[in-house]
Amino acid sequence: MKSTNSTYDVIVIGGGAMGQAAAYHLNKRKAKTLVLEQYTFLNQLGSSAGVSRQYRIPYPDEYMVQMALDSQPFWDELQSHTDSTLLDKVGTLWFGDPTVQSTEGNIAEAEKAMKALGVPYTSLTSKEIEDQYHFKNLPKDYKGLFQADGASINFKATIATLLQANKQSEYVNLQEESPVIAIKEIGDEFQITTPKGTFTANKLVIVPGPYVDSVINLLDFTIEATYWNMSSAYFKKTDPSIQYPTWFVFQNAIGDNGNQFYGFPGVSWDHPEYIRVAPDFVMKPLEDPKQRTPIPNPQELAYTTEWVENHMTGLDPKPFFTSTCMVALSNIPKKELIIDFAPPYVPKHKDIVIYATGWAAKFTPYLGKILSDLAIDGHTDFDISPFKMGDTYFKSL
Ligand SMILES: Cc1cc2nc3c(=O)[nH]c(=O)nc-3n(C[C@H](O)[C@H](O)[C@H](O)COP(=O)(O)OP(=O)(O)OC[C@H]3O[C@@H](n4cnc5c(N)ncnc54)[C@H](O)[C@@H]3O)c2cc1C
Repeated sequence: MKSTNSTYDVIVIGGGAMGQAAAYHLNKRKAKTLVLEQYTFLNQLGSSAGVSRQYRIPYPDEYMVQMALDSQPFWDELQSHTDSTLLDKVGTLWFGDPTVQSTEGNIAEAEKAMKALGVPYTSLTSKEIEDQYHFKNLPKDYKGLFQADGASINFKATIATLLQANKQSEYVNLQEESPVIAIKEIGDEFQITTPKGTFTANKLVIVPGPYVDSVINLLDFTIEATYWNMSSAYFKKTDPSIQYPTWFVFQNAIGDNGNQFYGFPGVSWDHPEYIRVAPDFVMKPLEDPKQRTPIPNPQELAYTTEWVENHMTGLDPKPFFTSTCMVALSNIPKKELIIDFAPPYVPKHKDIVIYATGWAAKFTPYLGKILSDLAIDGHTDFDISPFKMGDTYFKSL
């Protein structure tokens, strides 16, 4: 029987992918945990909206490659809880102008980092990419790499699996429609207020996705971030047998066309007759997550459609379905993750663990473990030093 007492070891603020993953690992540590979610679980209003995400190992920095590798056993363990395939291992194809530095990094730097860590991959010429992966009209000087462990993540099933495990846990309580509206430090505890009640805990894990400011402002600091309301489109297969890996194309921007795109295979869990292709840029970042809209920017969609028409085969180049998803990004060029404690001017700051910004779906079960260890022990076996960027991005109000 779960206790209904309002005192917890840890309160997790935010019930998205990372909140569920943190609670999943807090359960393993037998920590009495409360997850507070402002909307409903599995909502479509945060960074975990939509269905698919890319799991990939290529990164320009070795510590990121290592983090992707270290995540694999955690995915295997989570997979044992569900019959849905969480990672559809179709591989990662990175290609394009080898001189381009994008939000994802650079192809040659990623090859170097993978080589250093002994990760197998294949280097490709422009012609090989066209012959083997259905692209067309690529500039002759484009280069690429294929890494076979890349996958399309069934992200909806991932979160549902974590949620289900947490529902069954004797240590985890889950509360929807419970926006956190006040946080007070009282003695050795935090007192957390929602419209449904007040709860206390020794530790906090703060994972509110793009709404991070709505929570940390309650602790008198803010984050320097930009908010991307990202567009996505689904293109119908005209050749039903055609299959793409997960892919990303590196190209220089042309005017206001960011000109970087990424795509997914057709998967049974997400419009199986369609291929999802998305721009990896926004033409106008939001200043506040409240400006989020479910309607994609038409010009971003037009550029994406143009790319599909000019460079992909086996697809009707007219978007059939569209969607958006919002993410908070730091101003760091590579848009990495911030994993840190609250800044020192916040009382009990070492008892407040925060994850914010970046592309973290591929690390979900591992990041949950990292956050839970940080909350319970104050440290983790995983070296968070490259992610401890609160000094730069957290500002006192
Ligand atoms: C278009 C797009 C494509 C992406 N592609 C990839 C990819 O290919 N690979 C990859 O690894 N990553 C990718 N990402 C990033 C990845 O999806 C995110 O890192 C991940 O979803 C973050 O999960 P989260 O739980 O931190 O945030 P969210 O899913 O946003 O969850 C935060 C939750 O906190 C709740 N909350 C907020 N404020 C409060 C409050 N005051 N009180 C209570 N609850 C609150 C919110 O309602 C929300 O449900 C992508 C993101 C986007 C938007």
